[in-house]
Parts: sequence; structure tokens; C-alpha cells
Amino acid sequence: MTTVSESVFQPDTFQPETLFDLDSEHAVDALIRRAVELRASDLFFMTEERAVAIAVRRFGVVTPISRVSREQGRRLISHIKALAGMNIAEARRPLDGRWIWGAGEEQVELRVNCIATLFGSDLTMRLWSRETGLIPLDELGLAASDLRKVNSMLQRPSGLILVTGPTGAGKTTTLYACLETLRDGSRKINTLEDPVEFAIPGIRQSQVRADLGVDYPELLRNILRQAPDVIMIGEIRDSSTAATAVRAANSGHLVLSTLHAPRAAGALQSMFALNANPYFLSSCLLGVVAQRLVRTLCRACRRAYDVGHSDEIAETVALFETEAPSTVFAPGEGCVSCQGSGYSGRTGLFEVLGFNTELRRLTARMAVSREIHQAAVDNGMVDFRKSAMLKVSQGLTNIEDLLRDVPAECLGLED
Ligand SMILES: [Zn+2]
Repeated sequence: MTTVSESVFQPDTFQPETLFDLDSEHAVDALIRRAVELRASDLFFMTEERAVAIAVRRFGVVTPISRVSREQGRRLISHIKALAGMNIAEARRPLDGRWIWGAGEEQVELRVNCIATLFGSDLTMRLWSRETGLIPLDELGLAASDLRKVNSMLQRPSGLILVTGPTGAGKTTTLYACLETLRDGSRKINTLEDPVEFAIPGIRQSQVRADLGVDYPELLRNILRQAPDVIMIGEIRDSSTAATAVRAANSGHLVLSTLHAPRAAGALQSMFALNANPYFLSSCLLGVVAQRLVRTLCRACRRAYDVGHSDEIAETVALFETEAPSTVFAPGEGCVSCQGSGYSGRTGLFEVLGFNTELRRLTARMAVSREIHQAAVDNGMVDFRKSAMLKVSQGLTNIEDLLRDVPAECLGLED
């Protein structure tokens, strides 16, 4: 066994000796089973100078689970490449593959990517299971008033609903939850996705195939000829898709999509940057849902602190000024129910921006984000900061995690 002391990745819960006793097939199986048990979103194999570090991303945070010799790691990576239908002889070019891993009732889809790094191949597996990817709208972490707003947007026959946030903020999960709400058999629902993440019965799902020239704009034009009532566009990232989406939303379709923007008000700027016509946009926008994910504390072992108890806590809480609660929580030592991590999962932080006459007027004249944000707050939008403080006071999350996972400007701590 090779042990590299200078590495930042140290073996943790999964001792490498266990893997050395196994052949590649059983070792791969054991690692995936462990990743699934930990409810990890990714499993990483990272080739270092003298070893291969194996880690998972769990609730957004990288956690090492094992390390093996370079030779053992190379065999594990080759074995996974073969299972995922990738060319095992190719070591220099980036490769993609897919594979369904199943153990009994549980089926997990694995999306595998392999690239060359300084000391050899790095392999990343994204784990997708229906259990973690299909969550009902009322379990995403939306406050009751925000949930009502989203449900009322979804009841409209036409218009545009945008979900924004960075990669990995749970945007697709939110879109799927919306589709699940709309899926009552009375509406024809078509999607354009890259890739299709989960098969949902009763929904017509199409895959973008840029390699065949079927990109978002091309597929969207064709989907409109399929006479849908609802269209879900995986992502608006070019001006042609933006223009067609706005046109569809203005001509009797309910259009849902994701967009990269840090906050709800910023979605308008992102659409303007894609040359969306402000007047047409203002006439079809129903709402913007901005989101972030934060880790939730394990209720069984979290610890409560009185804010007055220490200067350090008081100082951190003071950042949030008047919205701060008097008791805050911190992750505990870890227990059986959280597998020693102190955390139980993740929950969403949201800003749900609904449009009234004033906000439409501001959109039509391309007002700056700050002005739109203020008008939205005046119109009752609960911003990230308030949404975060609510979750802190409920003991769902702690301030340190918030500051780590959510940029200061989103929490209104920086101007
Ligand atoms: Zn616990």
C-alpha cells in the first residue's frame, strides 16, 4: 500500500485495505455502494503522483473515502470505463460514458467522465437516482408563501417561469418538481434537455444532440410544431433560444427554463444580455425562482448556542443585523443517523420574484438589478438573506455553512 502523507486527501471512512482484498469488479461495486449509502452526488478517482485518491461529494462538500496504489487505481478506472461503454485504450482525450448501477430495488444512473491530468487519468462519476433527483415541490425547502406563489404561477395557461442559480444549485430538480405538479394528463408537456436526467411518465422528453446539429434553437423550433401546452427548456444560453422562448411564452405556451444568474432580479439582466426584447419579456414573465443549496444540520446531534454566549457567535450573527435569531445551531459531533458527519442533507434557499404592474414596467425599460430587486422586496419578495435567517432560526442550517455556500452579495452582506 502506498501512503502519501503530503496529500490533502486522507483515507477516511473506507479503509483501503478492504479494497486491496477485492478484485476490481467487487472494489468498484463496494465503492459505489458506499457512495450511495452516503447519499453522495459524485464519486471521484484522482490520480496523484504516488496514489489514487478516492473521494465523494456529499451535500456539496468533498469528503475522502479511500486511497489506493496507482496500479490499483488504474485498474479501477479501466474497469469503470469498460462498464460505462468508454474506450479503455484512450487515455489522452476526454471521454464520457453512462452506466446504470443496480442493487436490488435501488438503481443509480452513473454519468462518467474521464480526463487526463498531470499524473494520469482522473475519473468522475455523477450519481443520479430518482430518490435524490425527483423531489416534490413542497419538499424543496420553499417557505409556505413562496410555495403558494410558485403554484399560482404554474396554474397560468401561458407565460415564462425562470429558475436561476449556479451549476449544482438544484435548478433542474426544481423544474422537474414543477413538471410533476403540471402533469395531470390535461396538458401536453414537451421538454428539451441536455441530457434527459430522469424519465417522467406522460411527458414528452427530447434530448439535445449538438453532435447531430440538433441544438437548443433547432430542437425548440421543432418542438413548437408538436403543439405542446407546456415546454421545459433545460437551459437558455443563447439569444436564439431566448427569443424563441419569449415568443412561445407570449403565444399561449407555459415555458419553464433555467438560466445562470446569481439572484432573482439578475435573471432579467441575463435575458437582456441574450438580447431578449424587454417589452416582449415584460409581457410574458410570470416569475423568477432563484435558488442555492445549503447543508442541513443533523437534528439528532446538532448543538444549540445562545447568541450572547460568545463574542465570536455574536459577531457572526451581527453580520445579519436585525434579522438574526437569539439562538443559533452548529453541527454536532456526528451520530449514527448522520453517519458521523453532523449533516442530514441539503435544503434550498429561495428568492421567488412574482411580477406585478410595477415590475413589468421596470422590465420593459430595462431597469438595473438593484432597482428591480428593491421593487420585488417592496412587493413582498423574501430575499436570500431573510430566507437564510429563517432557516438559521429554525436550526436547519448554521451561519458558517451559509457564509461558505452562499456568496456574500447574495446574502446582502456586500454591496
Ligand atoms: Zn447526527
